[in-house]
Amino acid sequence: AAPLVVARSTALAAKKGLLIRNRASFEGARNLDAIVFDKTGTLTEGKFGITDIKVSDGFEEDEVVMLAASLEAQSEHPIARGIFEEAENRSIKLVEPDEFQSITGKGLQGRVDEIRVMVVSPGYMADENIKYDTETFKQLSGEGKTVVFVLIENKLAAMFALADKVRDSSKDAMQRLKVLKIRAMMLTGDNKQVANWVADQLDLDEVYAEVLPHEKADKIKQVKQEGLKVAMTGDGVNDAPALANADLGVAVGAGTDVAMETADVILVKSNPKDVVSIIDLSKATYKKMI
Ligand code: ADP
Ligand code: MG
Repeated sequence: AAPLVVARSTALAAKKGLLIRNRASFEGARNLDAIVFDKTGTLTEGKFGITDIKVSDGFEEDEVVMLAASLEAQSEHPIARGIFEEAENRSIKLVEPDEFQSITGKGLQGRVDEIRVMVVSPGYMADENIKYDTETFKQLSGEGKTVVFVLIENKLAAMFALADKVRDSSKDAMQRLKVLKIRAMMLTGDNKQVANWVADQLDLDEVYAEVLPHEKADKIKQVKQEGLKVAMTGDGVNDAPALANADLGVAVGAGTDVAMETADVILVKSNPKDVVSIIDLSKATYKKMI
């Protein structure tokens, strides 16, 4: 009777919007100790809009938006979309960059109209020792806003603050995990202030910010070495190495193809609460078989 139960659970899972790609991992879901979540696009909606622009002296706002957005039009990152939409709202015409390159986990750089442009993270600014107004930065990120810096010819031209929203379903998911006594962790490439702001709203057990993509995978390995069975939930290209290393890799369905190809289970509805449904269904399926 066992195979029938399993077959039925696959159909039931599909109905709930869970696509099971790896049976063995799904079976193991009933014994998970910890779940690690990516922030942007997973616990949050991943829809950024620009809320504040602080232009440096000598730079013109529309010009900075044009240069930054022309570059970001080449990127798939949620931050990129937010900056691109700002240009659209201002009816600013964009230019095809002459050169474009992403800086993994830190932003991007290129050449627009012969001008050297970069849009980068606070981490990049620290690495390169570029000064900026830290008071304004702290204030904006304390409000949960993600701040990126636009550099034009290596000079700080503007600070852009972008706001995202925590998914309501993330709150429900965290409450269920507490009841199940499963440790909830967050890994993000975003800065500490924003990470803490999200973690406070969700009452997470552990938070790791300013994490580079390969460090996400390392963190998963470390948790496994502690003897815990761990799941990773994420949506981005950056999350793929971590998804591959976890006992259970869960991709959020609205995410990138790379994440989905690497995952053991795909959440069609992009709802973090469905991670709990995987556990429930795994328990229900494999209990019947023993
Ligand atoms: P997350 O883990 O939250 O998905 P990422 O690792 O994708 O974050 O990005 C980390 C940080 O790198 C972002 O918070 C941002 O500061 C910077 N960054 C990444 N991609 C871009 C981009 N296209 N434009 C500007 N900044 C970016
Ligand atoms: Mg993400």
